[in-house]
Amino acid sequence: MDLPYIDFHSHKETSVSDILTIRSFDTKEITQLTDQPSSLGIHPWSLNRESYPLQLEILEKYSMDKNIFFLGETGLDSLVGEDKELQEESFRFHIQLSEQIQKPIVVHCVRSYHTLFKIHKIMKPKQKWILHGFQARRDVFIECTRRGFYFSLGNALIKNSSLRSYVSEIPRDKIFFESDDSSFAIEKLYQEYSLLTNQSISDLKKQIASNFLSLDVPYEF
Ligand SMILES: [Zn+2]
Repeated sequence: MDLPYIDFHSHKETSVSDILTIRSFDTKEITQLTDQPSSLGIHPWSLNRESYPLQLEILEKYSMDKNIFFLGETGLDSLVGEDKELQEESFRFHIQLSEQIQKPIVVHCVRSYHTLFKIHKIMKPKQKWILHGFQARRDVFIECTRRGFYFSLGNALIKNSSLRSYVSEIPRDKIFFESDDSSFAIEKLYQEYSLLTNQSISDLKKQIASNFLSLDVPYEF
């Protein structure tokens, strides 16, 4: 059987037959939920004190849905988003919920790895964490690997020379690719990575599908 490409994190509506797309929904988009595999969370950019209680309520209610494979994206962003305290509060809430309902979380982290490591050390989560749009410095990458995180790589795989310099060192069983909020073809990232690491596209498809199943998702290829 032909395995699909997997677009691990997308904010766009898509339906291409040989791509399995994991849609990422914010609690504000709850009316748009589909029956395809998805993640649901409160994006750090969309947090505000006023709507927070309602956002939590929606998250708790819908996170049990069978099509919600992951929680998130959630996390920390020191560049965008007003309320850093609320970001941390919300992130911790997602982590607790993820442990409680045993679903992995998709993490957004921009220039906040110090805090992220601190929280991870304190909370000691057992659920898997996938760092989406990963393109941090090499030393950060090393620490993330030590903590067993997964990495979802976007367009930075083509554009970010720092990421490209260590990409072949990322454990192969911890990798995904994503289009996020852009609309380029996910095949491009598979091609780029297969060139950088010298493996065939069909082996890579097998690897990524197996990585996906390693997240204990209710899915069969
Ligand atoms: Zn995103």
